Amino acid sequence: MSSKANNPLLQSWREVKPGSDFPIQNLPFGLYSDSKVSHHACSAIGDYIIDLYELVRNGYADALNIPIEVLRDNSLNDFIALGKQTTNGLRERLSELLVDTNRELQDHKEFHFLVFKRQSDVKMLLPIQIGDYTDFYSSIDHATNVGTMFRDPANALLPNWKHLPVGYHGRASSICVSGHSFHRPKGQQKPPDAELPVFGPSKLLDIELETAFIIGKSTKMGESVTTDKADEYIFGMVLFNDWSARDIQTWEYVPLGPFLAKNFASTISPWIVTLEALEPFRTSGYTQEPKVLPYLQYHGDKNLDIKLEVYLTPEGGEDNKIATSNYKYMYWTMEQQLAHHTVNGCNINVGDMMASGTISGPEPHEYGSMLELTWKGTKPIKLKDGSERKFVNDNDTITIKGYCEKGNVRIGFGECKAKLLPAK
Ligand code: CA
Repeated sequence: MSSKANNPLLQSWREVKPGSDFPIQNLPFGLYSDSKVSHHACSAIGDYIIDLYELVRNGYADALNIPIEVLRDNSLNDFIALGKQTTNGLRERLSELLVDTNRELQDHKEFHFLVFKRQSDVKMLLPIQIGDYTDFYSSIDHATNVGTMFRDPANALLPNWKHLPVGYHGRASSICVSGHSFHRPKGQQKPPDAELPVFGPSKLLDIELETAFIIGKSTKMGESVTTDKADEYIFGMVLFNDWSARDIQTWEYVPLGPFLAKNFASTISPWIVTLEALEPFRTSGYTQEPKVLPYLQYHGDKNLDIKLEVYLTPEGGEDNKIATSNYKYMYWTMEQQLAHHTVNGCNINVGDMMASGTISGPEPHEYGSMLELTWKGTKPIKLKDGSERKFVNDNDTITIKGYCEKGNVRIGFGECKAKLLPAK
């Protein structure tokens, strides 16, 4: 599938500073509010959001016949449900309107104040109403590290791991958009030397560096999505921090998997970068050996080169980059995850969210959780202010950033940021 909007030669008449996440080749989708607008769909160029409701209402995308209500709804679900022909059509139309040689919007300065607003002047909202949320466990380096730490270095991966993308059904209600804060969770923990469990605030509060994809097309119960067709069902991607309470997790997870250790908060970045904008950054993944079953096989390069960074910022302090990873280290692709998720006939809906699982790379600085970065707390991270972290402290802010870069084009996801408050 070729997209004119991905042409690396395109330049916008709107200013895009070097290093911006939002050049004309990105044009992601989001939802914003400000003092005048309660919720309008938007895109982004440089430091500005583009109000899609105002743009379409003023006749700049008439050929697409977009029902205007979907652009002023409290989620993008109905817009996304119009289908990729329409949503990608709007991205292509935006690209046309923003390219330096096009005068249609450029010369109508009277619309600019309605359509363009500084990102710093608006509030980004949770872009979708998330129906169901699934979390996978698809990074081989992460699964190997965790298996080594908690079970057996010689058999770090469980026997099923290389045969299916392991996952579990998570909770959607506590997924928040970047910029929120939440309280340290409380729960049962059983310290290794204690005979009985204790109750209290989690002492081992961790992050999980992940991405998530959003379902853009529903299926009916009984239908399955093949790896070949999966991209038709994937609308786009966001950054995802799957906050995890390791001490609660260790005690509760047997035999059904994580429960209260994971469902108290997750954070996503506000911009959904479309799968189409990500196409130029496809790359090959790890070789899958042993060979996977036919329904999990796929053709072509289906991994993505997305550079990922994690920052920890103490209250009033400086940003400390604590990890640098890459989505390309994923063992299982999104297409395989979706094929596996639906192979039994499980239906999916527009707005469902499926997270990658912690993305770790092979090198110690590429680990996607503090559990791994500090190797279970045995190698604390030194911060610029001289303090140390084994896990996340109260009032620390964690920010995940992500971007793709190839030649002169760099497209990014914006920030996935949240602050941990003390337990209530
Ligand atoms: Ca996770």
